[in-house]
Amino acid sequence: MSSDFSFGSAYMKGRYMPVSEAAIPVLDAAYRRSDVTYDVVGVRDGAFFRLDDHINRFRASLTRLRMTPVETDDDIRVILNRIVALSGLRNAYVSMECLRGAPPPGKTRHPSNCESYLCCIAIPWVSVASDEMFRRGMHLIIPKVRRIPPDSFDPTVKNFLWGDFTQSLFEAEDAGADYAVLLDAEGNVTEGAGFNVMCIVDGTVVSPAHGALEGVTRASVFELCEELGIPTEIRDISADELRNADEIFTCTTAGGIMPASRIDGRILTNDAPGPISSQLRERFWSRRAEGWHATPVDYSVVAG
Ligand code: PLP
Repeated sequence: MSSDFSFGSAYMKGRYMPVSEAAIPVLDAAYRRSDVTYDVVGVRDGAFFRLDDHINRFRASLTRLRMTPVETDDDIRVILNRIVALSGLRNAYVSMECLRGAPPPGKTRHPSNCESYLCCIAIPWVSVASDEMFRRGMHLIIPKVRRIPPDSFDPTVKNFLWGDFTQSLFEAEDAGADYAVLLDAEGNVTEGAGFNVMCIVDGTVVSPAHGALEGVTRASVFELCEELGIPTEIRDISADELRNADEIFTCTTAGGIMPASRIDGRILTNDAPGPISSQLRERFWSRRAEGWHATPVDYSVVAG
């Protein structure tokens, strides 16, 4: 076994290994059926951001999908700390994942016959937006593809069923845009490929009430709005309301707050990140630098 953790590290079934050695069997329903749930927590400057919020959301997803890995929440905390420490990374993308497992030979493929298990990885920080997108603002479209209905799969359970998102990325590329914001069957805004959507209408920061992951970054935005005295609302947003919003931004762990400057070709805020979105983004990173919701990584667990 190699001991090169410089590209990241992984944990699986009680073992720690370089991420390049972590592999899943082709008969695992995680691969064959995308039967997986996961959560991603960021590490910046050697500290996790809102670690407990991510573990709590992960546990809720596990319960919802009837997955029962052997590790407790405390075990998960120890594992995540250890994989980051092994990698030595100060800025990392840390994912806790639960795979359904493969049905044992001779049994049917029913998911209750499988033993679910954890796979956790820590890899160098990944951002969904490039430096150029941050500078000029994100170019968005509203694609033809609609979000999988919440009655078919609950979007508050973080999952790998990305068929709709993947199609939206190609639609965005074909339109010369960066990303797409998907609507639900009723024509209301949901979310995009790995991010929540927020818009600013008459000074109020608004985000969809239904059809999206309850994002940890979005919750942080609401806290920042409260600190700054900016009103907020969670309610339905129609496609036209989004297109005509004063400002739009998206938000996610892997990128923070990402202001948009165009939607369906309409130019917002002089084709640049809007003032309230930019204020929130600056505040987000300055609060993070102060240690807001931070849990320092204990790198000494692998010292010596
Ligand atoms: N929506 C989806 C579909 C996501 O995959 C993500 C994160 O990856 C988000 C929203 C944002 O959630 P968070 O801020 O907790 O990272």
